[in-house]
Amino acid sequence: MSEESQYSEHPGGWIEWFCAHEDHQFLSEVDEEFIRDPFNLIGIKGKFNFFNEAISMILQPTSPEDQDLEDERFLEVYQEASDIYGLLHARFIFTSKGSAIMRERFLQGKFGHCPRIYCEKQNVIPIGLCEDLKTARIKVFCPRCEEVYMPKKKCADIDGAYFGKSFPQYLLMTYPDLHPKFQLLPDTQIQVDFEPTLFGFKIAGKQGSKIKKIEQQQQYNHTITQSNISSIEQNILLQEQKQYRIQKQQQHQEQQEDHQQQSDQNKEQTHKKKNKKKHKH
Ligand SMILES: [Zn+2]
Repeated sequence: MSEESQYSEHPGGWIEWFCAHEDHQFLSEVDEEFIRDPFNLIGIKGKFNFFNEAISMILQPTSPEDQDLEDERFLEVYQEASDIYGLLHARFIFTSKGSAIMRERFLQGKFGHCPRIYCEKQNVIPIGLCEDLKTARIKVFCPRCEEVYMPKKKCADIDGAYFGKSFPQYLLMTYPDLHPKFQLLPDTQIQVDFEPTLFGFKIAGKQGSKIKKIEQQQQYNHTITQSNISSIEQNILLQEQKQYRIQKQQQHQEQQEDHQQQSDQNKEQTHKKKNKKKHKH
């Protein structure tokens, strides 16, 4: 029995059971406190029909029984509970505790490696291509070639919205030491041992050779590396600016919603007062 399927021997709560599922290997366990905090549920509640039932299902201290999984009503609530958990997960991994968990899992290669041969099995980070549910399944982002790939591991059941599209950039900004650009610094990038050969024979610097000297080649490598670093830094800066704009927009929307609620309440109160006055007359 694999390590991840031992949950039946250790009956934990719904969260532990859900994350131990074979298809859910990319998911981390979200703290119960985080789920109970109403602030973290803002903007999620309105999207679901069985919200309260789903939240109590997520917070169940025991895992579901086999007979529960045959109950239609249970499955309806379960579907919503999965998506609510996923959306909360997408927020949890942006907290200091959540990102620390994801950092460890990234370092352990739990999300797989880049399939591109030049990336030398660079560990990848989960990414969603859309923040909305049921739009795109989970993908993985390689911080070295900055490309997005289909993950190799079985995780077909995970919606990309369970991670969101800014997570890799956030993780790399929070823990800059994870960024492969630190492995590409001129001191480490230039391959001192590199000597161009043809069928095993050295060709650089020989009579009639069109290959330039190794030092020139190294200088060329150096410039390439420098330009790579500056383009990576530019990308990070752009991502930072984008995230800042998104945060501002969200704050603005929330403020507007609050104002709307307050004005609605005021209207209701004045309406009631008027009604009372009418009744008195
Ligand atoms: Zn790559």
